[in-house]
Amino acid sequence: MASLTKVLMALAGALQVTIYTDKLPPAAGGAANAFVVRIRPKYRGDAGIHAHETVHVSQFWGVSVLSCVALYAVCYLAHWSAVYVVLGLAVHSLLYAVVPAYRLRSEVQAYAEQLRHYPDDRTDLFAEYIAQGYRLDISPAQAAAMLRRRAS
Ligand SMILES: [Zn+2]
Repeated sequence: MASLTKVLMALAGALQVTIYTDKLPPAAGGAANAFVVRIRPKYRGDAGIHAHETVHVSQFWGVSVLSCVALYAVCYLAHWSAVYVVLGLAVHSLLYAVVPAYRLRSEVQAYAEQLRHYPDDRTDLFAEYIAQGYRLDISPAQAAAMLRRRAS
């Protein structure tokens, strides 16, 4: 699983567009939508934020590929037009928006990767972000425990 994650991260790094802009929600340092990453100019040199957003891009590509393959199989078996395969590109964003457990898993994975890029331990800070900023019913202590489990 770790090597699959590394492959997806490398592919995501190659298959993403990064834009430096302050057109982001007030509390966000960066954001990823599909394969487009927006990062505040002041964080241009912050490898952790770049890694965080690249994890989201890898999540997008991984789920999209699996979803498109599954939809292709469904279209083939049902004799439907293969045009429906493109709907697979929306699955990650849809799951992230409407399934809290998926959003939590996505953010824990992204923040756990981000943690690896700083010399100091920011686990409690990122746990606070996860608990407060993503419409999740989770305490900072629970989020910190998930980040520590992911890192070990
Ligand atoms: Zn994130």
